[in-house]
Amino acid sequence: MNLYLGIDFGTSGARGVVIDEEAYCIQAEVRYPFQDSTATITPKIWQEALFVLLEQIPDQLRRKIKAIAINGTSSTVLLVDAAGNPTDAPLMYNDARGSLLLEHLRSIAPPNHTVLSATSSLAKLLWMRQLPSFSEARYFLHQADWLGFLLHGQLGISDYHNALKLGYDVEELKYPEWLEKLQIPIQLPHVLTPGTPIAELRPEIMDKFGFSRDCLVCAGTTDSIAAFLASGAKLPGEAVTSLGSTLVLKLLSRTRVEDARYGIYSHRLGDLWLTGGASNTGGAVLKQFFTNAELESLSREIDASIARELDYYPLLKAGDRFPINDPNLAPRLEPRPDNPVEFLHGLLEGITRIEARGYELLQQMGADKLSRVYTAGGGAANDTWTAIRARYLQIPVVASVYTEAAYGTALLGMEGVKNSNCVTIFS
Ligand code: ADP
Repeated sequence: MNLYLGIDFGTSGARGVVIDEEAYCIQAEVRYPFQDSTATITPKIWQEALFVLLEQIPDQLRRKIKAIAINGTSSTVLLVDAAGNPTDAPLMYNDARGSLLLEHLRSIAPPNHTVLSATSSLAKLLWMRQLPSFSEARYFLHQADWLGFLLHGQLGISDYHNALKLGYDVEELKYPEWLEKLQIPIQLPHVLTPGTPIAELRPEIMDKFGFSRDCLVCAGTTDSIAAFLASGAKLPGEAVTSLGSTLVLKLLSRTRVEDARYGIYSHRLGDLWLTGGASNTGGAVLKQFFTNAELESLSREIDASIARELDYYPLLKAGDRFPINDPNLAPRLEPRPDNPVEFLHGLLEGITRIEARGYELLQQMGADKLSRVYTAGGGAANDTWTAIRARYLQIPVVASVYTEAAYGTALLGMEGVKNSNCVTIFS
């Protein structure tokens, strides 16, 4: 039986999931938690994590793996020299020092472009130009690109999910002219469709870990797209809501939707578009008032069939971007009933109304009509909340089939190998 390995580099650690081709079942799951805060995690630690994950997969499974794909955190980037060695510390996904270059970027990129954010990969690259080590650097890579390089040995390759925030034109499948004109003296990655097989494993990796000769390494993706792929959503109109610390919506659509004012942009997913937006509301507000155990027990006492109508807009502090774009939007958490069950009921409804409004906005902007919502994150296990959301959204609301990004990345590698032949980029 053929097996496929997906590797997820998230914020708190790395995970690997091995799935089979027949039932898409998980055959092995391995983990490497990061001990330190993200600020001190170096490429050396990523490399160690990658090899420890490979080592943990049982021998008999490793031999049957036909493809490996890796996802990284979106916009975690680094510079490397001609041999692939990092020339400086990477800039992590949330590093905002590129804000110093936003004005400059605005004068180059089209209005409302995805790169016009302090944390975009392009803002980071422009910031890196003033590093003393910049002259030694040959390639600019995303985290997933560099980890893939460690396995297949080809430098300068990325995928169009990771490359979106670098400014790559995912519709035309090329770097836009305004970006080429910048003439940054660095090799920008050659961009492939996520999942495309790139090359076999380096011989030394094959021998060290006992992989088969025909195991291919595929182009990767980002962590949040990988989690979407794991969910089971496949058709236009299907969506995934992530009820974690914040509320994140992703709706699969035949139409591309972009609006930087609301932080809405679309990733390409084959012939479809993954449209989405993120609100500051979410589980972090619930956590301010209730423990997880209280959330469970109090939720059981809520009658999900009736509306509490407290008109809350739950936020930790003022300001939201999606579905209401207002940096001064005040949290609305009054009036507060004495009964905690009623209060929680109001909070869950408040977050649900924001979710419903978010999907409405995406559809108003041209995304496909919402038909089904899969759910991930800490709130997905709350059946009362699911029932409240189904009442508001008026469509089926279900739990994601799988929530692990590594599972989605394994699927991506499997599809990539099945649908295409190995591309020889540097022949
Ligand atoms: P993160 O985005 O930080 O990865 P998680 O997906 O782990 O978040 O979800 C954590 C959040 O889920 C917490 O903010 C918590 O308030 C919320 N949560 C946990 N259990 C429940 C529950 N039973 N009902 C609703 N929310 C819950």
